[in-house]
Amino acid sequence: STFQELGLNDDLLRAITDLGFTEPSEVQNKAIPILLNSETDLVALAQTGTGKTAAFGFPMLEKIDVDSRTTQGLILSPTRELCLQIANEMKAYGKYCKGLNVVAVYGGSSISDQARDIKRGAQIIVATPGRMKDMINRRMVDISKIQYSVLDEADEMLNMGFKEDITDILSHTPEDKNTWLFSATMPREVASIAKKFMNNPQEITV
Ligand code: AMP
Repeated sequence: STFQELGLNDDLLRAITDLGFTEPSEVQNKAIPILLNSETDLVALAQTGTGKTAAFGFPMLEKIDVDSRTTQGLILSPTRELCLQIANEMKAYGKYCKGLNVVAVYGGSSISDQARDIKRGAQIIVATPGRMKDMINRRMVDISKIQYSVLDEADEMLNMGFKEDITDILSHTPEDKNTWLFSATMPREVASIAKKFMNNPQEITV
């Protein structure tokens, strides 16, 4: 199918044209209709390089309210590099979504600068778990209104020992949000996180 057939709005379709994406990748074809058309949790088994950032990014950009300055979407990712990469992709995908603010939050960079950027009104935060937890503890961020959370590269995050941080972060988000988990592999630890934080997730594999 085409991006238009997947039901994406004109702001996203324009950005997709600018980026030169001609057709949705497999994970995009599978995930986007599910996430756009229902309020559901999702477990997606997908490797990097499959276009999974857009698979969760397009629906998140479509669903958040850019006229509000409240933080509505939270994307957790294992490393600073991935965090920056996802934030940059989200900004490129959302370049025509007027009023959109995406902020990247990660260690090794000024926490007060990141807090300031969030205070200006970030609808979407892309974060590494350690720095995110730090900012929550310091009351520099309010994630009590999150509606969509993504656990990207969940297997990597657990391998790196972020289980407690993730649990702690998600405990500060609303019970009724949707969680979209992406992982290249599905070891027991990932299945257990999925079970603990998700309700009847739809499942896709690419
Ligand atoms: P990801 O797996 O999200 O890291 O994406 C891998 C690369 O593919 C990124 O550089 C994306 O910009 C690019 N990409 C994502 N979706 C598409 C698509 N439908 N067509 C062409 N390139 C894409």
